[in-house]
Amino acid sequence: MSGEAVIEVRDVTRTFMISSGFMKPKRPLHAVNGVNLRVERGEVMALVGESGCGKTTLARMMMGLLPPSQGTIELGGKPISTLDRMTVARTVQPIFQDPYSSLNPRKTIGSIITLPLRVQGDRDPATWEKRVHEIMELVGLPRRVFNNYPNQLSGGQRQRVAIARALINRPRMVICDEPTSALDVSVQSQILNLLQDLRAELGLTYLLISHNLAVVEHIATRVAVMYLGRIVEQTDTASLFESPRHPYSKALLSSVLTPDPTLGVPDTHLGASFPNPLEMPSGCTFHPRCPKAMPHCSQVAPRPIPAPGGHVECHLYDEGAPTYAQS
Ligand code: SF4
Repeated sequence: MSGEAVIEVRDVTRTFMISSGFMKPKRPLHAVNGVNLRVERGEVMALVGESGCGKTTLARMMMGLLPPSQGTIELGGKPISTLDRMTVARTVQPIFQDPYSSLNPRKTIGSIITLPLRVQGDRDPATWEKRVHEIMELVGLPRRVFNNYPNQLSGGQRQRVAIARALINRPRMVICDEPTSALDVSVQSQILNLLQDLRAELGLTYLLISHNLAVVEHIATRVAVMYLGRIVEQTDTASLFESPRHPYSKALLSSVLTPDPTLGVPDTHLGASFPNPLEMPSGCTFHPRCPKAMPHCSQVAPRPIPAPGGHVECHLYDEGAPTYAQS
C-alpha cells in the first residue's frame, strides 16, 4: 500500500465497563482490542464479522463519535482528537442501514438534504437550493420530491435521500453501515451501483460495514475480518474470496450459501456460539470454535503475520509458533 491514507487507526482499543449484576463490580468489555487499519483514498474497505465483533464501535470511533480508550486515529494525517466536530463531519459522513428511521418524518426532503449545510454554517442560503438540486440529480432523485416527506417515498428513494444528505458537503469518506440490508432485493443492486458510480465520480472513499458477503464481494476493494474486537485477517477482496486464510474467514465465506437469504447474520456452522465478550477465551479467542485449533491455540495469542495484501492472525501461518501446520 502506498496511497494517501484518508484515515489511519493505530493500536486502537475501546473498553466499556459493564455492570455484571446488583452489588457486583463492573467488568471490562474490550469491544475493540488493538486494531490497526489504514484506509486509502479511493478504496472501499469492508469490515465484516458477526454481530458484537466490534465493527460498529470501531466505525463510531472513526467518525469521532467515541474516543478510543487507547491508541490513535488520524484523519487526513491529523489526530481526530484534535479536530473539531464540524471538521470531522465535513470529512467523514455516515449512511445508515434503515433510511426510514434515519430521516426526520416531519421534514421535507429538501430540508433534510439541506440540514448539513445549515449545521456547517454555510453562509449563502441562496445557493442551497441549487446545491440540493445538483446532489438530488446525482443520486437519481426527481426534483418533484423536493417538497415531499419521507413517508411519501419508496425505501430506495429514502436511501437516496440519505446518500444525498451525506454527500451534500462533499466529504472525503463515507461510512456505509449495512447500506442495503433494509431494502427490497430488487432495489439493493441499484443502490450498490449508485454507490459505485458516486465513488468514481466524486473520488470518494468508503468504509463498508456489512453482514452480506455478496455485497462485500461486489463493491469492496479490501476486506478486514473482525472477530471479538480484533482484525484477524486483512487482505484484498479477490484474495479473500479466492483463498481465505484464517479459519474464521473460511467459516464466514462458507456461510454465503446459507439457505435463508433473509438472515441478517450469516450462519457460520461453527457449532459453538459466538462467545460472551465479557468472558474472552484465552490464547486465540477463536479457539473454542476453530476446526483447526491446536493445543497451544488456547494458551498463546497469535501475532499478526504479514500476508499478501495485509495480514492474518493465526498460528497456522506462523513459522515461529510452537507447531506449524498449513491448512
Ligand atoms: Fe484456529 Fe489456532 Fe488459528 Fe486460532 S490460532 S484460528 S485456534 S488455528
